[in-house]
Amino acid sequence: MGERALGDRADRWWSATADLLLGASCPGCRQPWWGACPSCRGHVLAQPTRLTAPTPAPPGFPMTATASTYDAVHRGLLHAHKEDQALMLTPLLGDRLAASVADLLAAREVPPHEPIVLVPMPSAAAAVRERGFDATAALAGRAARTLAGQRLVRSAGLLAQRRGLADQAELDAAQRAANLRGGLRLRSGVDSLRWRPDGPAVVVVDDLVTTGASLTEAVRCLTAAGYEVLGAATVSATVRMLSGY
Ligand SMILES: [Zn+2]
Repeated sequence: MGERALGDRADRWWSATADLLLGASCPGCRQPWWGACPSCRGHVLAQPTRLTAPTPAPPGFPMTATASTYDAVHRGLLHAHKEDQALMLTPLLGDRLAASVADLLAAREVPPHEPIVLVPMPSAAAAVRERGFDATAALAGRAARTLAGQRLVRSAGLLAQRRGLADQAELDAAQRAANLRGGLRLRSGVDSLRWRPDGPAVVVVDDLVTTGASLTEAVRCLTAAGYEVLGAATVSATVRMLSGY
């Protein structure tokens, strides 16, 4: 990477940061505030965690817990976190992801002494370069640190996107499924890391579940590589909630 590319990236990062500082509005409701305002924070924290599934669910869709419906407040917060590098939102949203993971582990009756690895859904390498940070990996890291007081849990980016994946945001449900089938792979060098398939069971984590295609593909990829996948957990879900299971 040349100096110019680094400079451009730094400019964009500083520009985004300056917008947040100078524009200073809550991304959830647009009221003047720095970060999530008390009202939006209270709204986010009041949401019950629960199991969820898209309708229809793709074949192989894992048991999935979520911490909210994808309402306007969550849409604003998650978008600001991912697209505008609103890093001050990572603790709030990461703790909601932690609550979602805890709900999944309770539903699966995973004993507290069993170690767990959180695997963030990978972003396209180009998108991470563009944004300057990996929002989903940041949420996974925060969730792991929050849960670490209760059980042995770490986050590890085991997955990577294959080249040539289209940006999911532009696609409908059927196109997403086709785009993603076989679209993920184990990150190169994973076998030499501590997180081998015969190690701890894994939970796939993401900020949002919509059609379920991404989570299903992640589970397929990890299962094929020999990992025990307990399910998935997200901050938000666009789909109808299921209460009980
Ligand atoms: Zn607000």
